[in-house]
Amino acid sequence: MDLKALDMESDTSKFTVIPAHKYRRSSRSQHQPSSSMAATVEQSHSARGHFERIPTEVFHMILEYLTVKEISALSMVSKAISSCIAGNISTLAWRNRMMLQEFHKCGQHNKEDSILEHYRALGLLFKRCTFLLPTKERLKFIYSKLSQVPCFTMGRCSAMPGCLGFASYGVFLQTLIAGWDELECHRVFNFLCDFTSLSRKIHTVVTSKSGVSPRLEIQIRRFCRNVLLDHWQSSRDTLFWLTRILKPWPMVNQARLIYIIYGPLTLDGRIGWQKLTEGAAEESNVKDMADAIRLLHGDQETKEWTADSVISLIDELSAVPSEWLLENSARLLILCGNRICYTSMASKAVNGRVNELARMVVFLALVCEKDNYCMDWAVKMMQKICKVFSNAEEKWNFLQTVENVFCQVTMELYESVMAGDRNEDTDTFQSLCNVLNANAHFHTEILYTFIKKE
Ligand SMILES: [Zn+2]
Repeated sequence: MDLKALDMESDTSKFTVIPAHKYRRSSRSQHQPSSSMAATVEQSHSARGHFERIPTEVFHMILEYLTVKEISALSMVSKAISSCIAGNISTLAWRNRMMLQEFHKCGQHNKEDSILEHYRALGLLFKRCTFLLPTKERLKFIYSKLSQVPCFTMGRCSAMPGCLGFASYGVFLQTLIAGWDELECHRVFNFLCDFTSLSRKIHTVVTSKSGVSPRLEIQIRRFCRNVLLDHWQSSRDTLFWLTRILKPWPMVNQARLIYIIYGPLTLDGRIGWQKLTEGAAEESNVKDMADAIRLLHGDQETKEWTADSVISLIDELSAVPSEWLLENSARLLILCGNRICYTSMASKAVNGRVNELARMVVFLALVCEKDNYCMDWAVKMMQKICKVFSNAEEKWNFLQTVENVFCQVTMELYESVMAGDRNEDTDTFQSLCNVLNANAHFHTEILYTFIKKE
């Protein structure tokens, strides 16, 4: 968790817990301090006394002149003031003035930044003035205020793509829970699930046919991305929240959820369910999914995501909603990075899935050619995979299969160029050129390794 935030949390305790205990009425009347401390204590009493004597309405009027940050600092003075502020921020007038922002009229970056900054300040204010409540009560109090804002509730905002509501909610939540330990963050997640019916909504979309509830799919994507995942600075925090979202579900549903949350979109803003099955997709269409997988299988293996589970997840993902074009699966693997790519391919080698593996090598080479990656990388990957096979015969068989696949893919494309209708001709012809170039460059790199050895 964020250390700075942790400091902030403990700082708050200096201001709220200690004074609340030290200046109890009973102790004030019993003790007669005579040292120099007495003066200080007396001053504190009178300072607090002044605030206490102010009628609530007047105190609320004073608060109207303060910024959110100032109110937030004031809430650390004492328990009495903190609870008075909590009362003030519960009023309708305060909510209308502070909570309801123009989420739909942003457009300019400055305006967006100032709304997000405002919600960051509100997060800190709520964090401070609910500090003494037990976590559950704290969350209930805060949620009761947030749920009154329509743009914070799934399905209640009509201007979804252009709305800054979820993003504001996200920075608010992040500020509020920064520095909380994992157990408390678990509680926050469970609380949010209960109050937003997130699990029920996810269940509906992952168990029904893709694209049947396009609005719900997008709502879940935006809620998960903007509120729960996108605002963390540390990848450990993002991993924690992504794990909470995915883990309750079986792997096949996890794959579908990753597609919903990080998969490609159509031009009209729906989940692009056909983008990876119908044609070669651009890199940007798989990049977010690859980043999410890299997060799950980062530098250090976590207890919750073993190499095996992540490899199986990738296999499931490349069949969502139906089998992807091999080129797109290869593109995803490349973007997942060396380690994941190698582990996925080595597991195929170990399990004797030579044909599948050889096809993947060819399409890795094709993607390197098309997306301008170094062909050297694809050759090195094949060499590494070769070492997984235990004897020369298996290695030879693997290499032969790779060459056969190069040949097959070329012939298939050549045949469709010959038989193709005029509209598709250019695309197919371009694909044939790409495969031929990939083949030539791939083998040039192999020949070059011999020269380097001499
Ligand atoms: Zn909205």
